[in-house]
Formats: sequence, structure tokens, C-alpha cells
Amino acid sequence: MKDINVLVINCGSSSLKFQLINSKTEKVIAKGICERIGIEGSQMAYTPAGGEKIEKIFPMKDHTQAIKLVLDALTDAEHGVVKNLDEIGAVGHRIVHGGEKFATSTIITEDVMAAIEECNDLAPLHNPANLIGIRACKELMPSTPMVAVFDTAFHQTMPEEAYLYGLPYHYYEDYKVRRYGFHGTSHSYVSHRAAELLGQNYEDLKIIVCHLGNGASVSAVKHGKCVDTSMGLTPLEGLIMGTRCGDIDPAIIEFLCNKEGKDVHQILTVLNKESGVYGLSGDFSSDFRDLEKAYHEGEAFAIRTMHTFAYRVAKYIGAYTAAMNGVDAICFTAGVGENGPLVRTMITSYLGYLGIALDEEENVKRGVENIISTPDSRTKVLVIPTNEELAIARETVALV
Ligand code: ADP
Repeated sequence: MKDINVLVINCGSSSLKFQLINSKTEKVIAKGICERIGIEGSQMAYTPAGGEKIEKIFPMKDHTQAIKLVLDALTDAEHGVVKNLDEIGAVGHRIVHGGEKFATSTIITEDVMAAIEECNDLAPLHNPANLIGIRACKELMPSTPMVAVFDTAFHQTMPEEAYLYGLPYHYYEDYKVRRYGFHGTSHSYVSHRAAELLGQNYEDLKIIVCHLGNGASVSAVKHGKCVDTSMGLTPLEGLIMGTRCGDIDPAIIEFLCNKEGKDVHQILTVLNKESGVYGLSGDFSSDFRDLEKAYHEGEAFAIRTMHTFAYRVAKYIGAYTAAMNGVDAICFTAGVGENGPLVRTMITSYLGYLGIALDEEENVKRGVENIISTPDSRTKVLVIPTNEELAIARETVALV
């Protein structure tokens, strides 16, 4: 096993999350986040392993400056964790959209950067920010190898019938309009981990992964390959999420434009930012902790929201069981999947036909790797905390 420190970078339009992970111990050496980059009041939070979180308000006019601050913090004489930048052996970048160009992670070259740029159309908010992160790192660490790990790559094994929409075929040919799916690093990590926990071959299993966070998606992993996933061309499709609507009748968009006197762009903002459990609960909250509490207090808005959310997940599980002609294991991950016993109970209550029996004593545990079905449950149910940063670090080390 190689022993290098990998800097994992997840660059958003105005934020930058980072973790420095040692490849041998797989331990996080330091982590943090820069926020409000390019906006007034930028700040960085930095936590060295075993140390206190340090928060600094610091003007960051762009991502290059943010990365410079991160590198300064990592090498700082007092709070730093490495002596100099030579102790960072590689950088792994999370890239949101790889289109059809990338089915695996790849070493970043000028050609790769150009290909990522060609996918900007497909993820206009994310890919340009990801590229800025790459360029900033290249400027400051020109000889350090860098790897791009794509959110879409794991789903590139989907067959045509799963990724095509019922649209004129030339839209696919001309513009590559199709299902891509996201959260691929998480779906891959969790499905692999499920096979390990069950002590079975990954290639022998049919697994459904429910990644239920603020953004949420389900995937079907048959014999080691993703065969379907609920997010589409963009992350808007599929499950009801924190603030995204998920599947709706596309005609609703024109209907609402007319009723509300808004344009398509404005309605899409509603669908992305004001819908989901937030909108369904009457703008109460997008946070499941709040919703769970209100549910237990008997609030009608929380009851309808939780049931509608859970029903949609159960419906996808049914669809993916059909797609794979069976399912051996269902995994819950991400904020809600890992920490939401109520949501897990609600979802699995629809799945009696899969011979599922939940072990309620195990199910109430939050945030730990766990098999929560009873030993005689025909289909296994697991909780597996996702670890996208570790997965990115592993992919990076494998390539450098
Ligand atoms: P993302 O990475 O997409 O922002 P996360 O995976 O962090 O999202 O998930 C965020 C969601 O997880 C929030 O809705 C939050 O309420 C929920 N969550 C976190 N902790 C708990 C908890 N203890 N109980 C229930 N829900 C939780």
C-alpha cells in the first residue's frame, strides 16, 4: 500500500471543501472548508486531526487565493500537519459532470481539462467551479499529480434503455440529452462496502443504494455495475429532496409559468430551491431533523411530507428490483439515510414483498455501519455511512 498524503478538493462556485488523507492509514490528517469565496466576508474553517477547529475571516477574492490559504494552513508552523508541499503526494478533485467522456477517474492533463470544459453545458454551475479548483492547484503545485473523480462516472455502465429519455432521438445525438446520474462516488463506495459487510462477492450481488441527503438519489447496482439511477441529465430528477422537486410532470412548468407570471428560469429556481420536503412542508424546513421532530409532535405538514418522501423512495426501490429481477441488499446512506430511523422504517414498510424484516433495535442506531435487517430477512438492509472523500483519495492513489 502506497504511503502518500492525498489532498481531496471539492470546489463549488463559492466554496471549497478539502481533506488531507493519508493513503496508508486512510485517516484524515486535516480538513476544512472555505466559504463565500469572491463574496464579502469569506471565511475558512480548518481542523487538524486531534486539534481544535480554527476559523478565520479572510478576504478570498478567488479560488486560487482560497487554495493558497488551504496550503498555508496545512504547512503552517503552528497548526500545520505537513512540513512542506512535497509531503502532499497527489490531489484528487471531485468533478460533477464527466458527460459520456469519462467512465472512470483519470489523471488530469490539458486534454482532460478541455474535455471537462466541454461538459460545462451539462453542469453550468458546477463544472466551471471544479475547473477553477484544478487550475488553482496546478498554479500552486505544478509538479503534483492530480486526478479527476467524476460524480457521473460510476453510472456510465447503465444500458441504453435506462439512460435514454422518451424524447426525439436526435436530442440525444445532437446534445447528449440523456440520464447521467450523480453521487456516483457514494453509490460505488457504499455498494462495494455492502458486499464486504455481507462477506459476499460484489459481482454476485444485486444492490440498491439509497443516498438520502440534501440531494438524494437511488441506484441499482447489478453484479458490480450500475444499471440505473434516479437523477438524470441534472440532479433535479428522481427523489423528492431537501429543496428539489424530483420527478414531476414536465407540463407543470408551463402551467406554473402561466399561473404565476414567471419565466422558465424562475420556475426552475422554484423546482431546485423551494420545492422538495421544504416546499411540501409549507416552507417549514428542508432539514429532516426538524421534520422528524414535527412528525412526532403530530404536525400534519410533517406527516404528509415524510410519507410523500418515503413513498417515492419505496417506488424507486420497486422499480429497481424489477430492473434487476430481484435485490439482495438495500443500503441507506448520507445524512438522512444514515441518521433517520423513522425514514428507514417508513420506506421499508412498503417492502414486505421482499421479505424484509427490520431489527428495530439496530435501526434506531444513527450514523454507524450496521446491518439493520433481522438475520432471517430475505433481503438485507444496511446502513453504510458514505465517505466520498476517502473514495476519491483511493481512486487518486490508484492512478498516481
Ligand atoms: P448533502 O451532503 O447533500 O448536503 P447530507 O448527506 O449532509 O447532505 O444530509 C443532510 C440531511 O441529513 C439533512 O436533511 C439533515 O437533516 C439530515 N440529518 C443529519 N443528521 C440527522 C439526524 N441525526 N437525524 C435525521 N436527519 C439528519
